[in-house]
Amino acid sequence: MAGLERKTAIVTGASSGIGAATAAALAREGARVAGGARRVDQLETEIKLELDVTDQESCGRFVEAAIGELGGLDILVNNAGLGLGRDPFGESTEEDEEMQLETNIHGLIRMTRLCLPHIRDGGHIINMGSIAGRQAYENAAVYVASKFAVRGFTYALREDLLGRPIRLTTVDPGLVETNFSRVRFRGDEEKAKAPYEGVDALRPEDIAECILFALTRPLHVNIDELVVKALAQSSPVRIART
Ligand code: NAP
Repeated sequence: MAGLERKTAIVTGASSGIGAATAAALAREGARVAGGARRVDQLETEIKLELDVTDQESCGRFVEAAIGELGGLDILVNNAGLGLGRDPFGESTEEDEEMQLETNIHGLIRMTRLCLPHIRDGGHIINMGSIAGRQAYENAAVYVASKFAVRGFTYALREDLLGRPIRLTTVDPGLVETNFSRVRFRGDEEKAKAPYEGVDALRPEDIAECILFALTRPLHVNIDELVVKALAQSSPVRIART
């Protein structure tokens, strides 16, 4: 089994939730990790760098500094993302649409393009999708569209990378208890708590362990897709609550 000693990694959105747990798991397994987020003070990675994936210049600065510190790249975890609101599409705003598309799609594509030239042979790209990118649900049209796009981009990139020694995995989690809902409901604690009530949701560490599994397969094994749901969840909206 391939270990992560002497590997280097970039994790976007490492200040919270799945990204923070993944960065911690990679470091635990011996990788040197550069974490990026807008809230740089929340980062607990070895290398902490400010990153706004919606901003081209910020991404350029981040990649240059991260590669400068790491000396090359083995693992890119494109995790930064967000949903905004749970409203019927008719109530969607240009601003919220732009923010979700810029972060979840353009940010991920931009970071991939900037990092790709630095990824060494045997490298691995992990793209954070969602079960929202496999099955639509109501009142989340733009978030759903963004995650379908992540899956489409990942499939297409797999074609373009074919023949090169770089692995690529899309990770599609279901309900994970993180800061996600707090961001989605703009700090409304009552609304933010509701999705996790009466259900044993996934923890960020559960997803981090699945990512580790993909990263530590022998080099000829590419885990194309990981779909991970809580036992009590069968689809984005079907949840057996107690
Ligand atoms: P979270 O706790 O809110 O973490 C989101 C992370 O993304 C934070 O570190 C945040 O950092 C970062 N981020 C947001 N906008 C950014 C930007 N413009 N530039 C750089 N970083 C940015 O939520 P999470 O659940 O861990 O979400 C992580 C990923 O998992 C997202 O792509 C999300 O769509 C996906 N996902 C989550 C769930 C779930 O149920 N929680 C399910 C499926 C998929 P800053 O705010 O400090 O910038």
